[in-house]
Amino acid sequence: MPHILDTPIEYLKGIGPSRAEMLRKELDIHTFGDMLLYYPFRYVDRSKFYSVAEIDSESAWIQLKGRVTGMQTIGAGRVSRLVMTFRDQTGETELVWFQGSKWIKDKIVVGREYIVFGKPNLFNGRYNFTHPDIEPADDEAPVLNEPLQPYYSTSEKLKSRGFTPRNFVRIMRNLIGQVQYSIPETLSQSLLSAVKLPARGEALVNIHFPHDPQALARAQDRIKFDELFFIQLQLLRLKYVRMEKVHGRVFGQIGSHFNTFYHQNLPFSLTGAQKKVMKEIRADLGSGKQMNRLLQGDVGSGKTLVALMSMLIALDNGCQACLMAPTEILAAQHFKTISGMLHDLPVEVALLTGSTKKSARNVLHQKLQEGSLQILIGTHALIEDQVQFRDLGLVVIDEQHRFGVAQRARLWEKSEIPPHILVMTATPIPRTLAMTLYGDLDVSVIDELPPGRKPVKTYHFFEKDRLKVFRFIKDQIAMGRQIYVVYPIINESDKLELQPLMDGFDTVSRYFPLPEYQISIVHGQLKSAEKESEMKRFLEKKTQIMVATTVIEVGVDVPNASVMVIENAERFGLSQLHQLRGRVGRGADQSHCILMSSYKLTADGRKRLETMVRTTDGFEIAEVDLHLRGPGDLQGTQQSGLVGLKLASLVKDEKLLKIAREFAHRTLTDDPELRKEENQPMVRYLQLNANDWGKIS
Ligand code: ADP
Ligand code: MG
Repeated sequence: MPHILDTPIEYLKGIGPSRAEMLRKELDIHTFGDMLLYYPFRYVDRSKFYSVAEIDSESAWIQLKGRVTGMQTIGAGRVSRLVMTFRDQTGETELVWFQGSKWIKDKIVVGREYIVFGKPNLFNGRYNFTHPDIEPADDEAPVLNEPLQPYYSTSEKLKSRGFTPRNFVRIMRNLIGQVQYSIPETLSQSLLSAVKLPARGEALVNIHFPHDPQALARAQDRIKFDELFFIQLQLLRLKYVRMEKVHGRVFGQIGSHFNTFYHQNLPFSLTGAQKKVMKEIRADLGSGKQMNRLLQGDVGSGKTLVALMSMLIALDNGCQACLMAPTEILAAQHFKTISGMLHDLPVEVALLTGSTKKSARNVLHQKLQEGSLQILIGTHALIEDQVQFRDLGLVVIDEQHRFGVAQRARLWEKSEIPPHILVMTATPIPRTLAMTLYGDLDVSVIDELPPGRKPVKTYHFFEKDRLKVFRFIKDQIAMGRQIYVVYPIINESDKLELQPLMDGFDTVSRYFPLPEYQISIVHGQLKSAEKESEMKRFLEKKTQIMVATTVIEVGVDVPNASVMVIENAERFGLSQLHQLRGRVGRGADQSHCILMSSYKLTADGRKRLETMVRTTDGFEIAEVDLHLRGPGDLQGTQQSGLVGLKLASLVKDEKLLKIAREFAHRTLTDDPELRKEENQPMVRYLQLNANDWGKIS
């Protein structure tokens, strides 16, 4: 027998077939159960009426009772707006609609009494209301007069078909009345009593119609817990299954490759953080399970070395290793660094990218199959089908977000026992996000820079300071340093959009004239050979200034560069600013980052610049970024959609997320395959949402 929550929404009192169609199309609500999960987006106090004269701030949502005394349409076509005057005993205000106003115009009768609900805006020194809710005051209104009334978000289109916020409340009342004793519990009884949260049925009733603020808070916590818990349960289950089913090679020994490198080739001692991470990796490699580890560490924290030492362990155990980078430049740089570090160790390393010649490629393929080539470094070219390893034991992936899960999986197929996987990223991801996005990976963090590194000093300047900035640059060049000047160009393939960069180049050229000063310019419209040759000139100190777009964000490593000037810095996102700043401060000298901005700054823009000036800690910056933008805009989250998070926030609910993860762990430790009878509600819930999980796993 179908469950009452699966009843099609058109059978709910007050809906019917045509309005049901509207709900399906506009809100993706198909059943009673879907409707139940359409949570209020706020709670409003409708026990009190304000008077027009009382309005003194923009902040609160309030309701007024009064008469519409006039109505007119101003302007024509798309930009027209509908303006009503609304008056009570104390004064007059305006109600404004910009679009979708036709149905309101038809419905409202001038002279009648209405209840208006909305948020006042200050406009030209007076308060008005845009797109308020408006209902006849004599409407039978049993749902009014409550201090914590649910308020459902709706649109003008929905309102025009009767889905006003007030009607939503009525509809929800009917729904709850019908289903409140039939809402299935989703957690096991033991978990439910351990988390000390209300039953799901109780929580869902209270989320719509809370008795008091405490009941509401507890209901919200319960719903959020479910959202977070089931994501974690699913992620961890995948991980447990993988660990159970997929065996890893056991790299039991540390041999001569690693030892010789460690004792003879390593030019410095490892930082504490590098040591800690190496321990974690060694434990994984020796465990008999397949390693899937995410290594996070700021630019310059020494991830490459960790990658190399891990690869040497693979070699010591008779396996091959590969390192995959997102761009050719980066791959080439890794190849150079790693070859240099290995020096005279008997290890064969090769580079394979899209531009490797066919003849050389054939040789590589041959050697890989034989096993004489031990470390392969490259780009996507590595996952091409022809590339067959004799025995691939470890894959290192640099800058993970550019490699999809599917691509990772293809690497697995390259050997019978899947290789261990180490994913490295310099884009710090806040813990809450990492737990959710990469919840199936183990996470290691290098949270310490090599000693002697001076944090980059960061300043924020306006246009009026430009001469001061240029003088500073002159001094730095006189000291033998090099300078970057970076412009925000969004669409580099558009000639027009490159104009600010060209203008900037002119300005810089005028102040730093030939022949004393040589300037490089690099942007996305240059052919890659031109780009490389310009970068090379800069690298070889033939030019002192590099004027560029963000194409220099990854790849270049010029330790002698000590100043990063970022023009229109307010237009960059925080993580990009942080990445750009990471281009300097790579040598022993004090480096500087100068953020130039216009005077007009949004609150967020100001906060971004302040944050950059205040800290160089990538994790702290990532946290601020998460708070400013919300997780939806952060890299990598769109694909995953952060499924099912309607109420829970990765920004605000970190504590609850940790609890949820801990309980998911406990549940699976106790019953890895969720076979126990008492865990069946959870299995059913996971199955019910199976479609969504596909997006994250
Ligand atoms: P990442 O890839 O994390 O941005 P790199 O691996 O490129 O950083 O390291 C940055 C620089 O720091 C390199 O020049 C590297 O040789 C150096 N380095 C790495 N580890 C140490 C260490 N323990 N002590 C001193 N220098 C180090
Ligand atoms: Mg690196």
